[in-house]
Amino acid sequence: MRPRLVAGNWKMHGTRAAIETLVEELKRGIDAGVRAEVAVFPPYVYLPCVAERLAGTAIALGAQNLWSEESGAYTGEVSGSMLRDYNCRHVIVGHSERRTLMGEGDDLVGRKFARALAHGLIPILCVGETLAERQAGRTEQVVARQLGAVLDHAGIAAFRAAVVAYEPVWAIGTGRTASPEEAQAVHAFVRRCIAARDPELAKVLTILYGGSVKASNAGALFAMADIDGALVGGASLVSDEFLAICRAA
Ligand code: PEP
Repeated sequence: MRPRLVAGNWKMHGTRAAIETLVEELKRGIDAGVRAEVAVFPPYVYLPCVAERLAGTAIALGAQNLWSEESGAYTGEVSGSMLRDYNCRHVIVGHSERRTLMGEGDDLVGRKFARALAHGLIPILCVGETLAERQAGRTEQVVARQLGAVLDHAGIAAFRAAVVAYEPVWAIGTGRTASPEEAQAVHAFVRRCIAARDPELAKVLTILYGGSVKASNAGALFAMADIDGALVGGASLVSDEFLAICRAA
């Protein structure tokens, strides 16, 4: 069985007090019923306090982003080694909000992915189509392009230490979830793209679904053959909801 992962992306939400409360609720709620790996992704400034509170627990820490260079004159950016300093295990790259709002292109995403690996971080590579692209029948073309750009930068072997998240842009933060079958079809496509270069690796690659995952729809999504967990936005800010998703995984 492939490793299962539930990742909570807190985006730019919360105050220090609210985040401390959330972390304590999650720590109390993680029990033997949660067998998937669980990771949380706070805003950068809260990484130190969350790292301290998670030390010695089963909950992993991740970052929402990193810069593509090791160090230097990059005002406002954070490097992979800085994330390692705070015990980050994962880092999200290529989230659609960064692709669309911050103009991050495939090339930069590929360089960030490679940089994350160079620091021993596990990149969670987000891929996914917009509504217009889906309606134009271009979902597979878009996902193949996004994956291909990273494969060109990092090579297929790099995916041994990475996770892919299929996140249809039209389902993120909209309350509109891809049906389990729609999600499964793209997950299977991602696995085929990887299998074309390394069939053994494709069998063990963890592929997450993201896009309005909630406690009420998680079970049906996780029942699909190629869905190995979730990247959760909104619902990860509510401890009971997030813990229910973790149990479903
Ligand atoms: C996300 O931002 O990665 C995400 C999936 O958000 P939401 O769960 O809120 O749709």
